[in-house]
Amino acid sequence: MFVLEYKVKPKPQQVLAIEEAIRTHQFVRNKVLRYWMDNRGQGKAELFRYNTDLRAEYEFVKDLNSHACQTAVERVLRSITKFFDNCKRNIPGKKGYPKFQKHNRSVEYKTSGWKLDSQTKKHINFIDKKNIGRLKLIGSRDLYYFQPEQIKRVRIVRRADGYYVQFVIKLDPRDTVKPFPATQRCVGIDVGLKEFYADSDGHLEPIPQFYRKSERQLNRANRKKSQKYRKGQPQSKNYHKARVRYARKHLKVSRQREEYCKRVAYSVIQSNDLVAYEDLNVQGMIRNRKLAKSISDAGWSTFRKWLEYFGDKYGKATVAVPPHYTSQICSHCGVKVQKSLSTRTHVCQCGYTEDRDVNAAINILQKGLSTVGHTGTYASTADGFPSAGNWRYAWGETSSSLVGAILLGYEDSLNQESPRL
Ligand SMILES: [Zn+2]
Repeated sequence: MFVLEYKVKPKPQQVLAIEEAIRTHQFVRNKVLRYWMDNRGQGKAELFRYNTDLRAEYEFVKDLNSHACQTAVERVLRSITKFFDNCKRNIPGKKGYPKFQKHNRSVEYKTSGWKLDSQTKKHINFIDKKNIGRLKLIGSRDLYYFQPEQIKRVRIVRRADGYYVQFVIKLDPRDTVKPFPATQRCVGIDVGLKEFYADSDGHLEPIPQFYRKSERQLNRANRKKSQKYRKGQPQSKNYHKARVRYARKHLKVSRQREEYCKRVAYSVIQSNDLVAYEDLNVQGMIRNRKLAKSISDAGWSTFRKWLEYFGDKYGKATVAVPPHYTSQICSHCGVKVQKSLSTRTHVCQCGYTEDRDVNAAINILQKGLSTVGHTGTYASTADGFPSAGNWRYAWGETSSSLVGAILLGYEDSLNQESPRL
């Protein structure tokens, strides 16, 4: 799958229509979820049948394209599957019982309810009874190259800075490029807080402190927002202005991070045939509040996501290894050398001295090379398209080596090429 994203600038009338469609999508989703909660044991077919009942009962549901209603049911099904899956695997902590949605930001169409301008493919027309109408697609990528049958989903997504239309195109990213030539090189990568990563060749990639730099601005915007908050009352116009300003700052930071991770991952994949890294439980680590900011800032999971995507696209192997003792064991003689987080250098009695993270990276590479057959964590989904903002679930469904590592979703990037499915 391949996602192309375009900015759109709807007129005020169209904004109302889009919001109405998004609300309806959320309504169907929550109704179906309620039905499932009240009637446990109901399967897929019953939930879809209930959706049909809803369309008969409510006029505004009927106005939304019938396939778009179905995608709302699919979202419920996906969260139910995810929940049961977590229970079965017995992951530590909460199992993620499906929740009602409060702040839905998107509506998803399938292959009907919209039409592209047949000539230029630079406009899209939404033709269901929500009356969204014609929108101009702003963006550099050309839809012209794709057959209409290749477009499997169309989504309208609201972000802090406006509306976007995404096209999910059935296309294997591997078909669009030639694989990178083999380099006869393998690398182990240890992501950290001090450096962005250290590799087994001794290279240290410094951390980009986007978040730190923007932090003062972010905090200021957040403070302004809180000052305007009125408890138990409807919020003022000024509050909402401040809220939007704050959200836009966040959006900017996460876009910077996504771009950075993408660039670094691309060059790592380009210069190596095999990349090994730790299978970290980022979600678990973020519960440690002291480290949380640095961890989520460093964007490890975004980085990993891009590594796996580019690895798949350009025919390189990516291996996730279990993260046990990689920093303690001496990569030279195999003896365990206890050290605390603050000890930055690995010094072993065998005479081997190395940067702590580089030593770990070498261990990771060795583990990676010994776990052959555990590769290729990125898999293109054949069906069961995940919805906007939910790509991480897709990863859980399609890749076996992601066990325990729940990826963070940065849903708001301008990237037009994207593994966000
Ligand atoms: Zn040693």
